Amino acid sequence: MVADASPTESDPAPMVTRAKEVIAVHAEDADGWCTGCAVEYGFATPHPCTARRWADRTLSIAGRPWGTGT
Ligand SMILES: [Zn+2]
Repeated sequence: MVADASPTESDPAPMVTRAKEVIAVHAEDADGWCTGCAVEYGFATPHPCTARRWADRTLSIAGRPWGTGT
């Protein structure tokens, strides 16, 4: 399971941190599958997987004024 997140006021965008972690893990392997899904969930998923697409969109949204925390 995922460890409990403990967002603090000094970390206004925990989802951004999580998204970056997801992008680092959910990468495309040589055959076009997601390496992160194979490791975390134990099955092959075509890249980009759902988690990776969520992370990409989260970072995209976070770059906008209304997505920075409050
Ligand atoms: Zn994945």
